[in-house]
Amino acid sequence: MANAPVQRMSQLMAKTLRDDPADAEVLSHKLLVRAGYVRRTAAGIWSWLPLGKKVLANVERIVREEMDAIGAQEVSLPALLPREPYEATGRWNEYGAELFRLQDRKGGDYLLGPTHEEIFTLLVKDQASSYKDLPVILYQIQTKFRDEARPRAGILRGREFLMKDSYSFDTADEGLAESYALHRAAYQRIFERLGLDYRICAATAGAMGGSKSEEFLAPAEAGEDTFADCPNCDFAANTEAISYALKPVDATGVPAAEDIDTPDTPTIETLAASLGVPASATLKNLLVKVDGEIVAVGVPGDREVDLDKVEAHFAPAVVEMVTEADFATRPDLVRGYVGPQGLEKVTYLADPRVAPGTSWITGANKVNTHARNVVAGRDFEVDEYVDVVVVEEGDPCPLCGTGLKLDRAIEIGHIFQLGRKYADALKLDVLGQNGKPVRVTMGSYGVGVSRAVAALAEQSADDKGLCWPKEVAPADVHVVAAGKALQTELALDVSGQLAAAGVRVLVDDRAGVSPGVKFTDAELIGVPKILVAGRRAAEGIVELKDRRTGDREELPVADAVARLT
Ligand code: ATP
Ligand code: MG
Ligand code: MG
Ligand code: MG
Repeated sequence: MANAPVQRMSQLMAKTLRDDPADAEVLSHKLLVRAGYVRRTAAGIWSWLPLGKKVLANVERIVREEMDAIGAQEVSLPALLPREPYEATGRWNEYGAELFRLQDRKGGDYLLGPTHEEIFTLLVKDQASSYKDLPVILYQIQTKFRDEARPRAGILRGREFLMKDSYSFDTADEGLAESYALHRAAYQRIFERLGLDYRICAATAGAMGGSKSEEFLAPAEAGEDTFADCPNCDFAANTEAISYALKPVDATGVPAAEDIDTPDTPTIETLAASLGVPASATLKNLLVKVDGEIVAVGVPGDREVDLDKVEAHFAPAVVEMVTEADFATRPDLVRGYVGPQGLEKVTYLADPRVAPGTSWITGANKVNTHARNVVAGRDFEVDEYVDVVVVEEGDPCPLCGTGLKLDRAIEIGHIFQLGRKYADALKLDVLGQNGKPVRVTMGSYGVGVSRAVAALAEQSADDKGLCWPKEVAPADVHVVAAGKALQTELALDVSGQLAAAGVRVLVDDRAGVSPGVKFTDAELIGVPKILVAGRRAAEGIVELKDRRTGDREELPVADAVARLT
């Protein structure tokens, strides 16, 4: 067994803090900063210190092992990307203000990659010429850049963050379904190994386009997504998915009319399919209200609403028709989905391209934007009126009728069947069995690697601090020298023995720091086992403590070492 490292706290480039950082809103942000894992460099931009880097590397390793296990091949593509391929797919504009754009010294346009469908498509176009070269799954673990409108919540929503993104390429639809299933299973293993509590939820395809999409959501107070979960059956859906996507708007923040009613706009059939409910209902417009707030709105296509059927199929507690009069007398129904707050949780309406103060009125074929405080019908024409579907706690599950639970969650992973959207835009064909070109079909799959660290911190922390599952912890054992030279000597000796047996050790050998402070720090840092060389060091007796349960026991050094190796 190779020697594992011993990290001495006396030399560690990280200071623990007694107080929460002033700007921290969520638990993971507070604890990761206080325990010396990360430091803020600028809004939404973070530096990883040694302990944080170890946890991040452990998450990366697990992701890498499970990707390799499904036959995916790791590559490393640039983060600094040319404009042209993103121009070809329309995303140079559609991505809006979230895209970091920059120019080189010659005035050429570039972007910092927020996600890499275009570049992977071009790579495969360059490398694969025949159906024999497919299927293939490629992935990278790479820094991504998104100029998030409200980078808050620390590591959970960075403007620079680490993502595992993979892309599958197949010639046939069945192949895509298989690649998707492989990823789904790999993600289940990844999140189980990470020790994350998660649900797989029906999701909207969002900015990626495509047909089928599911999200891996980790329930946590700090989460920015809300999902409906059935306590009795398998039904789970992001409330975003109970709504559907408005088409992207152009870079100026004004949506183009032709962007609204395209073949990509989900129909009631695809919507119903993604929710696993029968598709006999017709539906014109839909709003989703959570905690009394309208959080989603969408236009599924040019169809008539039959409210009875909407009620029957979505089984909502309340279906509310919004009339022209409502728009005049209840401007909140208009503005409920326009402000920065009301829009925050919805893929498209959360899009920062919708400038603050922009309001959206949905029409069958048109979206109008207006400044705030305008009254629909008075200040502008309304073509269509929206119906409100309220999804509330206790609403019957569409599959089994049991009362739904609504919970907050963190999106830790997202898998998409993209279909041929990117292959069409960039003309990715391979020669088929019959010698004729075949258009390739694609999937794309993301894991928020840095976000997973924060999600784990959120789910596993207790009132004393961080509390890592073994596989991701920055060390296996935190050895505390609680006393003077004798204790320090014993602590270093035990650390050496453990390391020789392959156990990763963090040892608190700081001189002039009281045992009380060291114990508090050990609990804050959250290594699973704590070994204390203290009162009975002279007898060769140490204390072994479990960070999670708090169970402690005194035992001879040799027994403690045996227990930990
Ligand atoms: P969100 O809804 O939270 O903005 P997203 O749907 O825009 O996320 P995707 O495009 O699906 O994100 O990217 C794949 C994964 O990357 C997400 O599931 C998430 O785990 C992670 N991710 C996305 N944005 C961020 C961010 N700003 N900071 C950290 N991780 C992120
Ligand atoms: Mg999302
Ligand atoms: Mg996003
Ligand atoms: Mg997503």
